[in-house]
Amino acid sequence: MRKKIIAGNWKMNKTPKEAKELCALLKDKVNTTEADVVFCVPYVDLYPVLEELEGTNIAVGAENMHFEESGAYTGEISGAMLKEMGVSYVIIGHSERREYFAETDETVNKKVKKALEYGLLPIMCCGETLEQREAGVTIEWIRMQIKRGLAGIGAEDMKKIVIAYEPIWAIGTGKTATSEQAQEVCASIRQVLAELYGPAVAEEVRIQYGGSVNGKNAAELFAMADIDGGLVGGASLKEEFAQIVNYKK
Ligand code: PEP
Repeated sequence: MRKKIIAGNWKMNKTPKEAKELCALLKDKVNTTEADVVFCVPYVDLYPVLEELEGTNIAVGAENMHFEESGAYTGEISGAMLKEMGVSYVIIGHSERREYFAETDETVNKKVKKALEYGLLPIMCCGETLEQREAGVTIEWIRMQIKRGLAGIGAEDMKKIVIAYEPIWAIGTGKTATSEQAQEVCASIRQVLAELYGPAVAEEVRIQYGGSVNGKNAAELFAMADIDGGLVGGASLKEEFAQIVNYKK
């Protein structure tokens, strides 16, 4: 039985002071052992959030990292820096990074490998555009993103990776994929994982759905056979996140 993982992606929101306030509002309400709960926050919020969440079961994640060890990459952050701070997870290849910061499956692959090297748990994102969905190429596209993103990664490492399926047309739009649409793609991701790593490993890997998850639709989405939780943007910045984490109640 896979443990659900529900992660908030704060994106470029919350100053350090606001981050502390949001943690104070949410931490008791989302502090559970029933699911893994993660707050993925801007770099400058990592320290205050780690401090505020100390002693809880809530893990902290970054929203990106660089694939090089160190060096002349002005403005970038390395895996070593995140690890030393006490960060556990890192989102890799979010569609906004792919769209606005020219990330590709190749850079995603390098980042996933580097994260694993430092003992960080990658949340590797994939997802199709509306045009791709309408053209009927969603499954083919996702299979390719998964294969390229995971190239050269072994089975033991694969078990540490979380995959987030996020249809681009559903991110921040209020348009959620139906639970059947989300399940179909998440099942196809598990199928590729089974082809690459065998069914036993595929059964262990957690696959999240992301795209306008909210307090109302979380229970239905998370009840699907291959959906093991969610990556939540907008609703992770509000008290509503507690409803999502406590979707069973
Ligand atoms: C996201 O940013 O990963 C996301 C899914 O955003 P939202 O929940 O706002 O659609």
